[in-house]
Amino acid sequence: MTLFEKIANHEIPATIVHEDADLVAFQDINPQAPQHIIIIPRRAIASIDDVEPGDAELLGKMIVLAKQLARETGVANNGYRLVFNCGPDAGQSVDHIHLHLLGGRELDWPPG
Ligand code: AMP
Repeated sequence: MTLFEKIANHEIPATIVHEDADLVAFQDINPQAPQHIIIIPRRAIASIDDVEPGDAELLGKMIVLAKQLARETGVANNGYRLVFNCGPDAGQSVDHIHLHLLGGRELDWPPG
């Protein structure tokens, strides 16, 4: 079981900001911006590289939740970034698909 499944199951503590039947969102333990939230599906999919056409609705729900959380945390007006890191070159460190929501400061582009 991945670290993020354990967080979703409340087996490892985290500051959970949203839970529903499909998704869990929690504060990143090492925030890279004033708001840094991780959004995961409860179902364990390793990475974007493993998604199937049938996962489209679930992935869409992740984005809709990101938009909702961006509004709730007050970063929506100034802007925010959504990131899926996929694989070693992108720095993916947990093999459970996750969407980063980053906001609350001006973000550099391109990323490092
Ligand atoms: P990635 O590098 O895209 O795989 O992102 C993994 C993210 O999970 C990083 O931003 C980590 O800071 C975050 N993270 C790792 N362990 C925990 C944890 N126990 N609670 C919350 N966030 C975590």
